[in-house]
Amino acid sequence: MYKLIDGKEISAAVKERVKNEVAILNSKGISVGLAVIIVGEDPASKIYVANKKKACEQLGIRSMEYALDADTTEEELLELINTLNEEKSVNGILCQLPLPKHLDEKIIINAISPEKDVDAFHPHNVGRIMIGDYDFVPCTPAGIMEMLKYEGIEVEGKTCVVIGRSNIVGKPMGMLLLHKNGTVTICHSRTKNLLEICREADILVAAVGKAEFVTADMVKEGAVVIDVGMNRIDGRLCGDVDFENVKEKASAITPVPGGVGPMTIAMLMQNTLTAAKRQNGVCDE
Ligand code: NAP
Repeated sequence: MYKLIDGKEISAAVKERVKNEVAILNSKGISVGLAVIIVGEDPASKIYVANKKKACEQLGIRSMEYALDADTTEEELLELINTLNEEKSVNGILCQLPLPKHLDEKIIINAISPEKDVDAFHPHNVGRIMIGDYDFVPCTPAGIMEMLKYEGIEVEGKTCVVIGRSNIVGKPMGMLLLHKNGTVTICHSRTKNLLEICREADILVAAVGKAEFVTADMVKEGAVVIDVGMNRIDGRLCGDVDFENVKEKASAITPVPGGVGPMTIAMLMQNTLTAAKRQNGVCDE
């Protein structure tokens, strides 16, 4: 019998923790603020930004939204980021990706102060993750580690396989599992023997972006299966894992929807809180 890892329940617990800590900071006269920049009219981005704003409101975090026209120039965007970098009441800055094609994402990400980079995309923070000395971790892998911790799933000594090597999910995911003493393999589209490698996994993380890519024959009996995928089949949201068949072999598995997805915003709130604490010299308990 498999355990369903409930992202709604775990994200609610994280948010409750953040909300309590924000209230404590507020009582000391410290406010917590997140600036969210969105450029253009991408409908999915608009939904993500609205959800982030809602989460801030629920947790007592001040959210400031900067909705810019699609034809905003790089100079204009950089000017806004510089202003927000200097603004004391802004603890976290995120620029919703993807940006319109005429804007260079690398230049924009690099302009955000590393201390306010709550998405953890700045090379400074990426480097800190590499050496295991970090304040911020990209929200999705951070959320997955939180799920494993919440469920009491030990990583140390486990064979961990991550499918996908993106900068925002696959690579940092691999590093976090490594820091917890897992033995990690990161797979990608050029990997040979993917089936055999996945079959060895005690913990299998799928971040491929292909609906139901991970089938039951790729999964070891008793494995923990984490599904990062958010794909649509005929309008229906589904993950990278063939949930119905894989669940019969897994010891624990995340559903889609209701798994990793809700964790991402919760961890953004956590990163924003961390930023506010660091900027105000508040130590962790
Ligand atoms: P991405 O940048 O497109 O990366 C996909 C990765 O999968 C790449 O490394 C690619 O390999 C690999 N891949 C593609 N086909 C493969 C194959 N046949 N065999 C093995 N590996 C293969 O995607 P991403 O941003 O990491 O996102 C992955 C999925 O997670 C998407 O569905 C996305 O929507 C979802 N997502 C969800 C959340 C959430 O909050 N739940 C957050 C972020 C992303 P190459 O590098 O060789 O091309």
